[in-house]
Amino acid sequence: MKNFVPEEIVVERGSEGSLIYRNLRLALPQVPLRLVEDISTANGNGDFGAAKKTLLLARHKGEFLKKCPGSEGQVCCNYYVVNFASNCSMDCSYCYLQEYLAQNPALKVFSNVDDLMAEADNLLTKHPRFFFRIGTGEITDSLALDPYIGFAREVVPFFAQQPNVLLELKTKSDCVDGLLGLDPRERVVVSWSMNPQRVIDTDEHGTASLEERLRAARRCQEAGYRLGFHFDPMIEYPGWEDDYRRLVEEIFATVDWRRISWLSLGVLRQTPGLKRTMRERFPRTELLTGEQVPCPDGKLRYFQPLRVEMYRKMFRWIRRQAPTVKIYLCMESKEVWEQVFGYAPSCEKELGNQLTNFGF
Ligand code: SF4
Repeated sequence: MKNFVPEEIVVERGSEGSLIYRNLRLALPQVPLRLVEDISTANGNGDFGAAKKTLLLARHKGEFLKKCPGSEGQVCCNYYVVNFASNCSMDCSYCYLQEYLAQNPALKVFSNVDDLMAEADNLLTKHPRFFFRIGTGEITDSLALDPYIGFAREVVPFFAQQPNVLLELKTKSDCVDGLLGLDPRERVVVSWSMNPQRVIDTDEHGTASLEERLRAARRCQEAGYRLGFHFDPMIEYPGWEDDYRRLVEEIFATVDWRRISWLSLGVLRQTPGLKRTMRERFPRTELLTGEQVPCPDGKLRYFQPLRVEMYRKMFRWIRRQAPTVKIYLCMESKEVWEQVFGYAPSCEKELGNQLTNFGF
């Protein structure tokens, strides 16, 4: 994977004493750095692609943790997200951040990691009987910037000590060096979004190749981490069956499925606004050509019978290799769940419990 290097680092005054600042300076001494009083003056001119070239560092002033908003009318998996950064150094054509962060596209890392851990500590201590799943990859990639900011090295030891949480680090990179040598104590899941190499080549720009992702997953498994894989977004195209079946086989030939905490399936989904942005930024992508229908949450997805067929086939291929691995659908309706698995979780807590229950 070609490592992203920012053209400039802009630091808001007050963040110079942070560990993240020190890590950035050590890892990128050659990149020009500018100190500013107010980071909002350096938020870019609204150009989404250009904003990815400058890395901003500032304190986060609001709350770090929130419940994953899910999607209206879809089964939710009761997940919490912690936002340690905003936007992503990679550039997938279908990335929903192009719409979600359109007004604030700056590539930003937050320097007050101690506040993040204090907030998490507070939540976990307040609800000792509840088992949490917390992820860091909602509005950024969990690991792509890690070689520079060393975030994982700061938070993995903290989460590893907690009795009632699983931290998920979700990525399309192979930046796992910072994780090796730490002891995750069964509390950290490193997960990859997976697609056949053909989709990576055409639509996942700047990300690690399939081979690099698999190698990184193997290294994490050997270092004691649990793993996750997200087949999301699945793309339908002529020959998709062969590519996805082979993808499933390659994963299980590389890692031990008994160390996989969960797999998820989800098809391509777009809003009309995201489609417009994709048309402007990636006019040659083929993801704009397939037929999609509007769903109750306002997103466009493949026609339901096609989605069900795709999920059923994946389910079958996975089950052949991993008889009891946990599989869930991301942002799908109860109706689709029932057609694929023969049941749907009665509530979000039930699904959350199923995903965290692996024999503590
Ligand atoms: S890796 Fe994820 S966050 Fe980054 S551009 Fe791709 S879809 Fe967006």
